[in-house]
Amino acid sequence: MTLLLDTAPGSDGLVVQRCGLWGYNSIGVVSGKEACAVDPGITPEEIRSFREALESGGRRVTKVVLTHSHHDHIRGWQAFPDAEVIAPRPVAEKGAGPQARILAGKAKVDQRLGVEDPAFRYPAVDRSFDERLTVRVGALHLDLEFLPGHSNCTSVVHLPQLQALLTADYLVSPGLPYCRWEAAPFEAANRRLRALVESEGIERVVPAHNDLIHGREAALVAIDEELQYFAALRADLSRRLASGDSHERAMRAAASFMGERRGVDLGPRARQDRDNARRVLAELGDDQSK
Ligand SMILES: [Zn+2]
Repeated sequence: MTLLLDTAPGSDGLVVQRCGLWGYNSIGVVSGKEACAVDPGITPEEIRSFREALESGGRRVTKVVLTHSHHDHIRGWQAFPDAEVIAPRPVAEKGAGPQARILAGKAKVDQRLGVEDPAFRYPAVDRSFDERLTVRVGALHLDLEFLPGHSNCTSVVHLPQLQALLTADYLVSPGLPYCRWEAAPFEAANRRLRALVESEGIERVVPAHNDLIHGREAALVAIDEELQYFAALRADLSRRLASGDSHERAMRAAASFMGERRGVDLGPRARQDRDNARRVLAELGDDQSK
C-alpha cells in the first residue's frame, strides 16, 4: 500500500491510500482536527494504516461515507466505531438477499487474500439520503449526490472547496466503463459528472480505483471517452440486430469490436466489454418488444 496523496500537517485536503488489490483507493478528507473516511478498504492491515494516516496529528475520524454497497467499498466501516456512517438510502435499505450476496462476494475475496474477518457485518448506516446531502468535516463541505448507474445505489462526493470530485466506480478506467447495473443511467451519471466538472471548476477527480485525474480538461476527456464508448457500442449492437444477428452473436461480436476499437489488449479486464454489451442489449431488447 502507498499513500498517493497526503496533506501537509495542519492543512485541509485529501489523503488517498492505494491498496494492493484492484488498484483500490481509500480516500480520506481531512480538515482541522476532523477526518472523514470514504470507502475505507481493503485488508485489515491497509485499513489500519489508512486510519493511522487519517488520525495523525490528533485528528478524529467523525464520519465514514460509503458511496455504494459493493463489497470492496464497505470493508472498513467497522474500523471507525465512533464515526457516523453515511450512505445513500438504497445502501441502508438493501434487502436480506442482496446483503447476503454482497457478504458472500466479500468472503470469496477474503479467502483469496487469506483474510480472516469473522466479525464483519453489512454496514449499519446512521444517516442515509435520497438525492443529496451536505455534511461538514472541519471547515470542508462534502456534497454527497446519489448517482445510480454503476450500481443501483451509487453516489459520488463533491468537495467544492478542494475543487475535487470523488467519483466512486465512475472513471476508474476511462474507455472501459465499469457498468454493473444499467447502461442508460450509467451514461446519465457521466453526463451529470461532466456538468459538475464544467460548472464547479473541478480540478481533480479521485476514482475508487486506479489513477487520479488531474485537471479539468483531462476529466472532461475521460468522461467523453466513457460516453463515446456507449454510443459506439449501442450503434454497433443496433446494426448487428438489424442485420438479423441473435442477441448472443451480436453481444460477442460487439464486444470484440469494442476491443479492436480500443486498440489495446486489456487481457481479462476486457470481459467487461461483454458485460457492457449485455447491458446495452437488454435495453435495446426492451425497446424492440414495445
Ligand atoms: Zn462498485
